[in-house]
Amino acid sequence: MQTIEHLRAAVQVAHTAVARARRHGLLPSPSSLVCVDCGRPALFYDHREYAKPLDVEPVCRSCNVRRGPAIDSPVRRSTKVEG
Ligand SMILES: [Zn+2]
Repeated sequence: MQTIEHLRAAVQVAHTAVARARRHGLLPSPSSLVCVDCGRPALFYDHREYAKPLDVEPVCRSCNVRRGPAIDSPVRRSTKVEG
């Protein structure tokens, strides 16, 4: 069973992985890309699943909000995750 602490740790790992990849030039700055949803300038990399730390897509602010939290975000489940 995954606890909220595990989920929070996964978020941390995912954000660290993206920051490291950007530092090493493996991912460009999202501001150099366009939003995959609407084509406007992107601002963030969006995680759909923190269990896949580098599986990210560039999105703008409004699409990032519209997408909502990742499927395994601790924001979605306040106490625990089944499975
Ligand atoms: Zn957008």
